[in-house]
Amino acid sequence: MKTLTEGEALARLRRGKAAFQSHIKTTYERAARSCAACPTPGVCCTDAHFVNVHITRLEAVAIRETLRRTPRLDDAARRGVYERARAAVARHGLSVAGDTFARTYSCPLFAPGAGCLVHARAKPAPCMQHACYDDWRDVPPAELQWRAESRVERLNDQVYGAAWAWLPTPVWLTLVDPASDGAELSRLARLWASRRHARTRNPARIAARRSLPVVAS
Ligand code: SF4
Ligand code: SF4
Repeated sequence: MKTLTEGEALARLRRGKAAFQSHIKTTYERAARSCAACPTPGVCCTDAHFVNVHITRLEAVAIRETLRRTPRLDDAARRGVYERARAAVARHGLSVAGDTFARTYSCPLFAPGAGCLVHARAKPAPCMQHACYDDWRDVPPAELQWRAESRVERLNDQVYGAAWAWLPTPVWLTLVDPASDGAELSRLARLWASRRHARTRNPARIAARRSLPVVAS
């Protein structure tokens, strides 16, 4: 497998996600309910009984870089995202071990008034695919998300080898927090790297749970 630098992989990740987001938008979202008219905007991101989005190491770096560059946040607001991530980890018992998909959380990347802080540049694939539909026949097929996630996995492999994992977004945000010393990420990277490379892939693809778009009732 061709290896990539983190910078090269981030550029490819960005292009791949832009293409996926555009495909979902133009092909499926016309049939979805309008988020602008939603009576509870953002509840799909903040409902701690629903959200269990997982991301990879490369996506976490992409999110950190997006937060670092966005003019929508000052330093205090930027710090607030990482503090919300730490609070979500503690409040919802999120961790790097066990059945991480069994735990749900309120996403720290949602900001009231602004929405998803990484919408344009670093949104996770399940979030891109998510919308509220009135008819199941309009819902994008799960295989689309799985294919997008396979491409993300391959990019992680090309940069980090086996030293990465699918983890809840708040967990990854604490690991790549610019204010952290990086010791925990280094420890985990050594642990993951010592495992067989052909490890279990994204369990969401196998279990297909909670990351499917919602059909509004
Ligand atoms: S996806 Fe659904 S719940 Fe979320 S803001 Fe849009 S309409 Fe509202
Ligand atoms: S990453 Fe963005 S779209 Fe996804 S749950 Fe968080 S705030 Fe919502």
